[in-house]
Amino acid sequence: MRILVLGSGAREHAIVTALLREEPRPHVIAAPGNAGIAADVPVVDLDPTDSDVVTNFAQEHNIDLVVVGPEAPLVAGVADALRTRGIPVFGPGQAAAALEGSKTFAKRIMDEAGVPTGRAVRAGNLAEAQGALDEYGAPYVVKADGLAAGKGVLVTSDRDDALAHAVRWLQHGAVLVEEFLSGQEVSLFFLSDGHTVLPLSPAQDYKRLADNDEGPNTGGMGAYSPLPWLDAGFGTEAAFVDEVIETIALPTVRQLAAEDTPFIGLLYCGLILTDAGIRVIEFNARFGDPETQVVLPRLVTPLSGLLLAASTGELAGLPRPEFSADAAVTVVIASENYPETPVTGRPITGLADAAKVPGVTIAHAATALDGSALVATGGRVLSVVAVGADFSQARARAYEAIELIGLEGSQHRGDIAAKVAN
Ligand code: AMP
Repeated sequence: MRILVLGSGAREHAIVTALLREEPRPHVIAAPGNAGIAADVPVVDLDPTDSDVVTNFAQEHNIDLVVVGPEAPLVAGVADALRTRGIPVFGPGQAAAALEGSKTFAKRIMDEAGVPTGRAVRAGNLAEAQGALDEYGAPYVVKADGLAAGKGVLVTSDRDDALAHAVRWLQHGAVLVEEFLSGQEVSLFFLSDGHTVLPLSPAQDYKRLADNDEGPNTGGMGAYSPLPWLDAGFGTEAAFVDEVIETIALPTVRQLAAEDTPFIGLLYCGLILTDAGIRVIEFNARFGDPETQVVLPRLVTPLSGLLLAASTGELAGLPRPEFSADAAVTVVIASENYPETPVTGRPITGLADAAKVPGVTIAHAATALDGSALVATGGRVLSVVAVGADFSQARARAYEAIELIGLEGSQHRGDIAAKVAN
């Protein structure tokens, strides 16, 4: 099988790594990739959001399956263009990708489908935003309606900050003011062929920059999977997953199908476990980063077959994907001054030694070769992934590897998965 993976982050590197573990090995090409992906598979320097360029490339190179990593190509309609030309693609069309691209669209779908989520008011101007803030009270939750590269959500007890955030994002469109929800957060991925869903294993990510969930929100500083504490609340992970399928994933997919916008791809359910039950805080239309880096290393079922079956409408009747009992942890290494103005261009050292730590793989995010030197090219630079028999071992391995990696001024959290390690 010939597979084209679109994207250039640690998520795409983790997808490529999972595909390369299979026997027989699929032929994998990535576009545009990064320095780490390029060390593993051929990469092509093309714009993944350019539908014509992507479809022409896929056709010329007899690609059997295109896997879309990030949201931008989906929102740009790349999956629609591929499907029109009969090329199987794992990723929703533009209309269904609005589940991620427009929070008001997502709320409407959830309302129609009866999916549990926080109450929210759409505000199109300052007066409406002020009214909604007063209606819900503190803590305030203000969300940009459209894609905001992880910067669109503010949770704060300061009304002036909440209002300033609303004012800022009203310049780009509407905002949502949402009721504050409290509880553990879970990221749960579903493969969807438009009608049927298959669950992957739950993960939890760490969105704040600094230890103890302090500092600004980021794209994600770490993650772990599975979630041992789910057993206490739900009996088993499977019981939790069943509830999410019945109350959230299937109703959402059915609603989109009923509206002639079938969701084919990865339905990412961002959930919060409140005292009143499971609530959706967000949907994404693609694999999450960094959760993918801890979910896929535990996947036993070959990934390519699952993605192809989803892309060709053949998930019905397939068994649920199997996962190992391993504990998986990922810790993200970010550049100095991330997330505001990350310092780029600095050399990265020690990766070969870090990758020799048992159970460790390094997923590259923002890396490139400058001559023969590996350099950081963005905010989140590397995702150090470690698996172990338990979380203590996986954590120890991840942090041992991190000690071996050099990047001047870099930042990482020290408390990833600490709460689940003995
Ligand atoms: P999002 O970008 O939608 O994932 O939101 C970023 C983070 O904001 C989430 O991971 C939550 O921690 C937090 N958040 C979003 N919505 C709410 C809410 N209604 N109540 C409390 N926290 C929220």
